[in-house]
Amino acid sequence: MPQIRKILVANRGEIALRIMRTAREMGIATVAVFSEADRTSPHVRYADEAVCIGAAPSSESYLNIDKILKVCAELNVDAIHPGYGFLSENAGFAKRVKEAGLIFIGPSPESIEVMGSKLAAKQAASRYNIPMVPGTPDAISDRDEAKRIANSIGYPILIKASAGGGGKGMRVVENEAEFDEQMDRAVSEAQAAFGDGSVFIEKYITSPKHIEIQVLGDQYGHIIHLFERECSIQRRHQKVVEEAPSISITPEIREEMGRCAVDVARSCNYYGAGTVEFIMDENRNFYFLEMNTRLQVEHPVTEMITGVDLVKEMILIAEGQPLRIAQEDLQIHGHAIEIRVYAEDPANHFLPDIGTLHTYVKPDGNGVRVDDGFEEGMEIPIYYDPMIAKLITYGEDRETAIRKMTRAIDEYQISGVQTTLPFCRFVMQHEAFVNGSFDTNFVGRHFHPDLLSTKTDDEVAGLAALISALLNDTLPESKPVQNEEVSANASKWKARRFAAY
Ligand code: ADP
Repeated sequence: MPQIRKILVANRGEIALRIMRTAREMGIATVAVFSEADRTSPHVRYADEAVCIGAAPSSESYLNIDKILKVCAELNVDAIHPGYGFLSENAGFAKRVKEAGLIFIGPSPESIEVMGSKLAAKQAASRYNIPMVPGTPDAISDRDEAKRIANSIGYPILIKASAGGGGKGMRVVENEAEFDEQMDRAVSEAQAAFGDGSVFIEKYITSPKHIEIQVLGDQYGHIIHLFERECSIQRRHQKVVEEAPSISITPEIREEMGRCAVDVARSCNYYGAGTVEFIMDENRNFYFLEMNTRLQVEHPVTEMITGVDLVKEMILIAEGQPLRIAQEDLQIHGHAIEIRVYAEDPANHFLPDIGTLHTYVKPDGNGVRVDDGFEEGMEIPIYYDPMIAKLITYGEDRETAIRKMTRAIDEYQISGVQTTLPFCRFVMQHEAFVNGSFDTNFVGRHFHPDLLSTKTDDEVAGLAALISALLNDTLPESKPVQNEEVSANASKWKARRFAAY
């Protein structure tokens, strides 16, 4: 069995550091590759060796397969960890790594290929008893036929790009009159973003929760799941708050979803760490969405509640070791929440707000984990994803984890750029989040920029009452304003002001 002695991390920022830390704990040497924009990054200094592989645009550096493989050959690297994003779900890259005699710390190129296409993934999974969102099983080639199917499913429907990712290439169609126009847009968006214009139809679940299951498989067909992550708090179909376990499912649903996730992984002979995503409707029916064949941004919440270091297991699996954990060994301990701290301005449509981190002081203390890749004084480069850090809190139960998160957000000091921290604080304090009655429409339904602040609950309620009065052209009544009313009025208000949002 090959023993990995040196790993090159083909990534940057927080995930590169996170992977290198585990490698170091395992006595494995690390190599960083970096672009000219990342010369002073912590991941570059942390690595045992570091090589600049090109200019700032990722196509000239982090996506340059030839250069990455050349560094591996020159520095006697045994294995490559791709992290997430960049080359992590590129089957061609995984193949090239193998052909160069190196170990790819991830699944086989074949598994990546199948799960990289939402349609191929559904087809593979259909060999097992896995619930799917009603829709077209193949790419749409005949529009009239597609319209007939859309009518039989019932509007609204969603047009999705088979090669889609990151929430791109999705279009909601409210009624048949909109069908052709939205179809044209979806196809051209998919073609532009992914070089593949294949689209299909799914029923649009109007009040969905996004719940996903972490799986781990070895190269001998053993597959386990490490429970769920709840990722329904999203903006632009992208996650901002994640937690484990989910407040919305029962032990029975957890078990059934876990079984389905393991079967989806089995359907493509999966090994390594992967995530099977599901969407769940108001009646707690869940459906398979897609599988991500890599380490997920939000993996820390699973690590916190299971005590499993997912990167360590990925490395051992890549070496060819059999799984060390049996399903029965796993238990959920406590509750973990992650927020993504983005350099984005929540008061201005979450637009990226790059600049220099003039102040950067991290929170600390019991139950607080910060995975980041920046330091005070550094610039947030415009070339990459604007995520500054992931802030994770862990407590004995959900309420404790939420309280710790609010405390940690208040301790986090960042100046020089706007961040999603105030938005995440708003989420932590919102009744719908606290009581679990939220879905992926949370942001659209409950959030508007004027509710953003470090104000106390009373002040927020007062502000909301004022908005309510302005909306209804009345003075606030003396009775306390209920959160439901606040939200309803707030979202009406938002609809007026941000009709174009
Ligand atoms: P991507 O690969 O672009 O991330 P996904 O299929 O994972 O696309 O979906 C991303 C998000 O879009 C989901 O988390 C959910 O919020 C929303 N979504 C996807 N499919 C549906 C659907 N059929 N109905 C309602 N919302 C959906």
